[in-house]
Amino acid sequence: MAGTRGLVIAVDGPASSGKSTTARLVAQRLGYMHVDTGAMYRAVALKMLRDGIELTDNDRVMKLLRSTEVSQIEKDSQARILLDGEDVTDEIRSPEVSLWVGPVSEDYRVREHLVEWQRRLGRQGGVVLDGRDIGTVVFPDADLKIFMKADVRTRAKRRRKEMMGRGIVQTLEEVESAIETRDTRDSSREHSPLRKADDAIELDTTHLTIGDQVQRVLELAKKILATPLTE
Ligand code: C5P
Repeated sequence: MAGTRGLVIAVDGPASSGKSTTARLVAQRLGYMHVDTGAMYRAVALKMLRDGIELTDNDRVMKLLRSTEVSQIEKDSQARILLDGEDVTDEIRSPEVSLWVGPVSEDYRVREHLVEWQRRLGRQGGVVLDGRDIGTVVFPDADLKIFMKADVRTRAKRRRKEMMGRGIVQTLEEVESAIETRDTRDSSREHSPLRKADDAIELDTTHLTIGDQVQRVLELAKKILATPLTE
C-alpha cells in the first residue's frame, strides 16, 4: 500500500498495553492522523447507556448507528473524543462504559458500522489506527502491523494510575480482574476476536517506556518509507 502517500499503520493489542498512547505519539511524529478505534466503541456504548438502548432493540440500534458521529481532535497535546460534538473523553473511560463496551463491541451491526467509519478515515493513508482487529480485519493489507502486549500486572498498574488521574479509585486487584475479563471477552468473541495478524510485529512493552515504544515503531515505519517501490 505504501507509495507516495503516507503509510497505514495498524497497532493492535489487549487492554492497556500502551496502544493508544504509542499510536498517538507515532502519528504526531510522522504528521499522520491517529484513530483510536477503542474510543469509538466506547462512545457508541456510552450513547446506548445514556439513551437506555438495548442491543435487542434492532430499530433503535440501527437508528443510533446511522445518526451518531464520533470524531477525534487534538487539544493541548491530548486526544479528545467527541460524541455528536460533545467532549466525552473522560466519560468513556468510566468503569460502567468499560463493562458495557464488551457486549456492544461483540455486536456485528456495531462492528460493521464502525469498521466502515475506520476504513473511510484510513483509506487515504498517513494514518495510525489502534484497536483489536485493525491488522486482521479493518486493514489486512496495512503497510505496518504492530501487536503490542505486556503482562497483566503491568497493564493493571498503568490503567490504575490513569484512572486515579481522573479521580476513579479501584484496587489493583479490581483493575487487574476487569482487564482479564475484557481480554478473555475480546479474544474469544465470534466477530473479529483479538489476535495477532500473522505478519504483525510483536512488541512486548512490559519493560519498555513510552519513549522506547514510540522509537521502535518509528524505526520500523521509517524503514518502510525508505524502501523504494519495486513496481
Ligand atoms: O482500546 P480500548 O480498551 O479503549 O477498547 C475498548 C473496547 O472496545 C475493547 O475492550 C474491545 O472490546 C472493543 N474494541 C474492539 N475493536 C477495536 C477496538 C476496541 O472490539 N478495534
